[in-house]
Amino acid sequence: MRDLITSIDSTRLGFFKSILDEAEIPCFIRNETTAQLANIFIGPLQPTLCLVNDADYEQASVLLLPHQSEEACSAEEWPCPACKESNPASFEVCWKCQAVKPE
Ligand SMILES: [Zn+2]
Repeated sequence: MRDLITSIDSTRLGFFKSILDEAEIPCFIRNETTAQLANIFIGPLQPTLCLVNDADYEQASVLLLPHQSEEACSAEEWPCPACKESNPASFEVCWKCQAVKPE
């Protein structure tokens, strides 16, 4: 088993999982329910998309890469350099960790 992506956004993880499901890469989302019940926790309790087989890691990364960079290139949002959370373009600091928006 290997962790692939961790995100507080379980909807996004579900989307990534559907891509891997389509490619017939065995995977599952860990901590999904736990995080919803106790969303004040971060870190180990964040939902994580996991691969059943370590050997699938490279293929899975390649499959998901275009979807991740699409988000990073969006003019509407900027990804926090510290915690990787997406922020609306109008925000000057990260809503989650208060890191300053990069130039
Ligand atoms: Zn942040």
